[in-house]
Amino acid sequence: MARERELSTRCIHDGELDDPLGSPFTPLYNTTTFRFPSTEALLDVVEGRTPGPLYTRYGFNPTITSVEQKLASVEGAESALLFTSGMAAASSLFFAHGRNGVLCVGDAYGGTLELLGEQLPQLGLKTRFILDSDLERLDEHLEGIGLVFLETPTNPGLAVFDIATIAEQAHAHGALLAVDNTFATPVNQRPLELGADIVMHSATKYLGGHSDLTAGVLAGSAEVLQPTFGWRKNLGQVPAPETAALLARSLRTLPLRVERHNRNAQAVAEFLQDHPKVKRVLYPGLPDYPGHALARQQMRGFGGMLTVELADKASAVAMVDRLKLIANAPSLGGAESLATLPFATTHHGMSAEERQRRGITDGMIRLSIGLEDAEDLIDDLRQALEAG
Ligand code: PLP
Repeated sequence: MARERELSTRCIHDGELDDPLGSPFTPLYNTTTFRFPSTEALLDVVEGRTPGPLYTRYGFNPTITSVEQKLASVEGAESALLFTSGMAAASSLFFAHGRNGVLCVGDAYGGTLELLGEQLPQLGLKTRFILDSDLERLDEHLEGIGLVFLETPTNPGLAVFDIATIAEQAHAHGALLAVDNTFATPVNQRPLELGADIVMHSATKYLGGHSDLTAGVLAGSAEVLQPTFGWRKNLGQVPAPETAALLARSLRTLPLRVERHNRNAQAVAEFLQDHPKVKRVLYPGLPDYPGHALARQQMRGFGGMLTVELADKASAVAMVDRLKLIANAPSLGGAESLATLPFATTHHGMSAEERQRRGITDGMIRLSIGLEDAEDLIDDLRQALEAG
C-alpha cells in the first residue's frame, strides 16, 4: 500500500483542483452562482447525485470545496466545512449537536462561554460547565449530555486536557467530543486521532496565519458533520470565496510557520520564567509546567501561545503599554507577536468573580508569539519588564 504523504506535502497539494489551464493551485472562483447545461444536470447537483458547483452560500463553490478538502486532509478527517468565523463554526456545531445538552470542560474562549452560558440557554439549550478541578466527577456531569466541548491548551490558562480519556468517557455516555484545536493547530495536535469526533478551529488564527482573514472550520466524519451543513447554509455562515483562497494560500506554509512559533515561544517562555519580575509562566513546553507530561504525550509541539503572570493588574497594564515591537491587540496566530490582557479583551464580558473562579487573574498577559527573531522579542519583553 502506498505510504500516506507527510503533512507539509498534504498542506501544499491536497484539495487542489486539476486546473485545465494549468494553474498549480485552485483558482479563485469569485462567483455566487454556476450555470448548468440542462435542468437534469442541475438536479443532479441539487439532489446530491453529483458533487459540483451550484451556489456559493451553500458552500458549493470550487474555491471553498477545494480548501475544505485540504483542511480535512490536514486534520486527518473524512470531511471539513468552512465557516465565516470560529464563532460561526461553534454556533452551527452547538445548534446541530447540542440538542441533548452541551458540557463545556475547562476554560474556553470568552465568546464561546458567552454563547453557551448566556445565549443558547435562551433558546432552551441545556448547557453545563465543569472546571479542571472537577474533572474526577466527569462521569456524573455527563448524564444527559449529547456533546462535550473543550479547548486544549485552554485560553488563556494553557491548561492541557487528556483528549483520549475524555473521548472514552464521553462515548461511554453516548456523547460526542468536539475539540477546539485553535491554539494547538493540526501540526501540534490531532484530536481525531486521539478519539475526538469533531475538531473546531478559529481559522482566523494560525490556519490563516497572517491576521488578514476571519474564518472557522469544523472537521470530522461526513456523518457527524452532516447536521451542521444545513445550519451553516441557512444561517448564512459560508465565507466569501476570496477568504477561502487566502486560507488555502496560508495552509501551504502552516507546518513551517508553526514550527517557528513553537521554537520562538519556547525561547520566550524560558527567558520569562527566569525573570525576577515574573510571578508565573504558563506554557506547556516548560518541563515543570503541570500539563507538560500530558502535552508531551498528546502534542507534537507546544505551540506559540503562552501566558505570563505579573504581581498585579497595574504591573501587567504598565508592561503591555511599554511594549514596542509586540503589539497590544487581541487575537493570535499571526506572523506578528501580540500581547493581550485577558481581563480587558477575551474575558472582558465575564464578571470579576467568575474570572477569579477560573483562575484568570488581572496580572495575566497572554502572548501570541509570532515569527520574528526570538532575540528581538526577548529584548522587547526585557525592556518592558525592566523600565519604570
Ligand atoms: N476559539 C478560540 C480558541 C479563540 O481564541 C477564538 C477567538 O479568539 C475563537 C474560538 C473565535 O474565533 P473567531 O474570532 O474566528 O470567531
